[in-house]
Amino acid sequence: MTKSIYLDYNATVPILAEVKKSLLECMDLGPVNASSVHYYGRTGKSIIQLARLNIANLINTKSENIIFTSSATEAINLLFGSFKEIIVSSIEHLAVLNSSKSDLFIPVDPSGVIDLNYLEKLLKEVSKGNQEILVSVMMVNNETGVIQPIKQVVDLTRKYGGLIHCDAAQALGKIKIDFEELGLDFLTISGHKIGAPTGIGALIFNNNFNLSPQILGGGQENGIRAGTENILGIRGFGEAASIMSKMPENNFSKVNFFKNYLYNKIRELRPDTIFFGQEAEKVCNTLLMALPNTPGDLALMKLDLENFSVSSGSACSSGKISKSHVVSAMGHNHLASNSIRISLPPNDFILETEGLITIEELDRLAECWSNI
Ligand code: PLP
Repeated sequence: MTKSIYLDYNATVPILAEVKKSLLECMDLGPVNASSVHYYGRTGKSIIQLARLNIANLINTKSENIIFTSSATEAINLLFGSFKEIIVSSIEHLAVLNSSKSDLFIPVDPSGVIDLNYLEKLLKEVSKGNQEILVSVMMVNNETGVIQPIKQVVDLTRKYGGLIHCDAAQALGKIKIDFEELGLDFLTISGHKIGAPTGIGALIFNNNFNLSPQILGGGQENGIRAGTENILGIRGFGEAASIMSKMPENNFSKVNFFKNYLYNKIRELRPDTIFFGQEAEKVCNTLLMALPNTPGDLALMKLDLENFSVSSGSACSSGKISKSHVVSAMGHNHLASNSIRISLPPNDFILETEGLITIEELDRLAECWSNI
């Protein structure tokens, strides 16, 4: 069977070769439970400590402010458990929308950028009550790749005495994240978006806040998230973070070149293609597009048959394709079931080591798209 060309890196990134190597080394260390007092327990503690330092270094925060969880989704649920009043953007990932249970939505403009004036209006209204307010806005949208104005969100939220969470799952490895400089209170990230295994995420918090734990037990992670630590996941996350932080600042030019090539080729061969979020500032690896009268599941199946693994902008965990709430929020409700996301490797390093793609493959993809 021919191997399918993987262009769904926003869903997950393959485990990086260096990470794999370090996981194998870790497995050879013996029976490691970081809660044990003996030699093997100390080995576990030092693995966790090193991973914390590597992640802290990548996003500029203090290592003691990192809580490991099983995923970004769990980290978000853990955080939201401490708040009653949460303002969210209308394009957040379902991990935020479903766990916040919020009905306070910040709309976006047609290019997919949040409306800061509306956020201020909401903050004005909500800050009259005496609940602690949390504002949750993602750094990069997973469907469109559009970058959100987080610094302005922080400034506005501070003005009204609220706290700020940023879901940075799609920003990690794609743009610089500086927790301290942005002045955030909370940040959530996920290991498998940068080449660590799935099943590991983290919540970064500002130490002035007392979080209420959702999982109680043996007191791991400073009593905030109990359960024997996922040593392999943590080691992999730390290793991937260390690789990401060694990359040069501008590590996206090749990905950008391939993305632009594909974009132009598709526009040439199939001019009726609609692209979403192209007018806004975006990460360099993501294209979200649709054909006017073609459901996304049909386009996805056709591309799959031609050996291209892409995604519908709106697939849920059951693999079923539903309407994209992101495309709808951008005002294109009639196209919300049609969108297809192509996501290239997040940066040049991952492109070169794990996801090299050729111009011929992109030509063939554009050709297949034009024949749908
Ligand atoms: N937030 C965003 C923006 C995402 O894209 C994802 C995963 O796709 C998540 C949160 C959830 O991450 P995890 O898979 O670690 O639960």
